Amino acid sequence: MIEDTYAQKGQREKMCKQLQEKGITNGAVLAAMNKVPRHWYMDSALWFHAYDDQALPILCDQTISQPSTVATQSSLLQVEQGMKVLEVGTGSGYQTAILCELGAKVFTIERQKGLYEKTKALLQQVGYRAKCFLGDGYKGAPSYAPFDRIIITCGAPEVPQALMDQLKPGGLMVIPVGDNEMEMLRIAKPVAEGEEPKVERFGNCKFVPMLGKVKFR
Ligand code: SAH
Repeated sequence: MIEDTYAQKGQREKMCKQLQEKGITNGAVLAAMNKVPRHWYMDSALWFHAYDDQALPILCDQTISQPSTVATQSSLLQVEQGMKVLEVGTGSGYQTAILCELGAKVFTIERQKGLYEKTKALLQQVGYRAKCFLGDGYKGAPSYAPFDRIIITCGAPEVPQALMDQLKPGGLMVIPVGDNEMEMLRIAKPVAEGEEPKVERFGNCKFVPMLGKVKFR
């Protein structure tokens, strides 16, 4: 098992207090973030900064999302016990771990082979049952659809139609949309056919871009 020292637990509690001060009120999300050792999801050379509220580099030129971003997206997603959640952009697996702690049945897609392999092994090692896919998140995971919730953790130029199709009626999608300037959106798929989705806006944000096609090396 990877270590989780008293000092690291203390830093994590402090991080959660700071998230509360920044306006995160969802108790389940705060509890999950207090429980999951974020430092496990990054290189040990960066552990000194693991509980700072910042994005940090991981493999394949990608980043582990900033704690306040993970807290915001997880809160907006309104996850309930047993829900089927699709995540696009597995990356480090940290957001995946938080979704698992929230009681979701998680399906997560990553396009970078190196990250997919490393993170799949890590999630298994630390005991999460998330189903990891190597693939193009634009296509979703049709054979496991429909999903109660979909979370995109990279910046999408637009809302992918395939993902809307894989969302249950009444389901929610949380997605940063835009090219350079991204905006966090929450989209509610209507229960009745023929109605327009409801779109709520939650301000500007920054993510690595959502790109097409699997990258094998
Ligand atoms: N949730 C992750 C965020 C990682 S950054 C974490 O907390 O660590 C976003 C990730 O999305 C990157 O790993 C990137 O490779 C991946 N990504 C970008 N476009 C994608 C696509 N079309 N399909 C799947 N993953 C994609």
